[in-house]
This record gives sequence, structure tokens and C-alpha cells, in this order.
Amino acid sequence: MKLLEDRIRKDGKVFPGDVLKVDSFLNHQIDVDFISQLCLEWKRLYEGTEITKILTIEASGIAIASVAALHFNVPLLFAKKTKTVNISADVYTAKVESYTHKTTYDIIVSKEFLKPCDKVLIIDDFLANGKALEGLIKLCEDAGATVAGIGIAVEKACQRGGDLIRSKGYRVESLARVSSMSVEGGVEFC
Ligand code: 5GP
Repeated sequence: MKLLEDRIRKDGKVFPGDVLKVDSFLNHQIDVDFISQLCLEWKRLYEGTEITKILTIEASGIAIASVAALHFNVPLLFAKKTKTVNISADVYTAKVESYTHKTTYDIIVSKEFLKPCDKVLIIDDFLANGKALEGLIKLCEDAGATVAGIGIAVEKACQRGGDLIRSKGYRVESLARVSSMSVEGGVEFC
């Protein structure tokens, strides 16, 4: 999506370790009107697909996913990160390896909010190695819910996550796909 690519070219900052920061409009300060336009693109792409719930992971996915939920007119559910050792029986849980912090944590959602009848659109800000998505997909599988699709704002296609998740048969709609990036050279798109 040219709109997002242009904004990343203008405002994105590349950091060592293949980290792209978009703090001025998506991850810290939020340009709500701008991310609303991104969400409308997912709405167009998933026209005709039944969606009953949007699922994301805290914290950075929540802003964009909540605007998506507004456009799809469905509830937003976000998986919480937890360090609790004793996980209650009332939640579905998965382990996720953090791309940015290089640690592993548990994510949980309450069984009350994810049901076998749900058709879930998973939304996240970034896709790198696919660990966050694998965790969110596991939560849906454990609940017996259907993953109707996945919407990603920025896919770092130079990393393996997109191929991995698509090879499992999931539909992944990424609005910008980064083919390469470097601190010196900036960002290139597929
Ligand atoms: P994955 O689990 O696919 O390896 O990484 C995706 C998660 O890590 C996303 O939820 C996102 O929060 C974070 N992430 C991965 N790469 C980047 C990046 O380049 N920039 C930012 N801001 N977050 C990233």
C-alpha cells in the first residue's frame, strides 16, 4: 500500500538488529486518521469474509487493532502478556518469543471471550519471524475458533515469518512488505 510505504520512507527509522521504528505514527504517537485508512484497506481486502472478532497482542497491536475493530464493527480482544507462573484454567495460553526483547513470555486470553463460533481476524503492527502470530493462532486453535485471516501493517519480508505462516495455509494481508533495510540505506519494499 503506497500510502504506508511513503509514510515509512518519510518517518521510519532503522535501528541495528533489523528493527524499524515507526514511533511517530504507529507505535508511540498514534496518527489515528492515518491508521484508520490502513484499517479501511483491510476492510476492503476482507470484504465478503465473515469476521466476528479482531485479535491482537498487547501492547503495540492494540491501537491499530481497535481502529480495525471499529471499521469491522466487531469486538477487539487482545492477548495479555503475563509472567505469572500459575496460569488459571479460565484462560487459553501460548508461549511467544519476543522479537524486540529476545525473551519468552506467556500470552493469555480468557476462555470467556474466545469461542468455537468465532471467526477471527488477527491484526498486528509488525511481522518478523512469526512468533507472535504463531502464539495468537494457537490461542484460536485451542479455543476451536477459526482464523479467518491475518492483517499486518508492516511485514519484514526479508525475515521468515510471512512465508512460514502462509505455508500453513493462512491468508496474510500485509500493507507494506519490506524487502531490505539498513541503518545507512533506509528501507526498500517488495
Ligand atoms: P515476530 O513475532 O513476527 O518475530 O515479531 C512480531 C512482533 O515483534 C510484533 O508484535 C512487533 O511488536 C515486534 N516487532 C518485530 N519487528 C519489529 C520492528 O522492526 N519494529 C517494531 N517496532 N516492532 C517489531
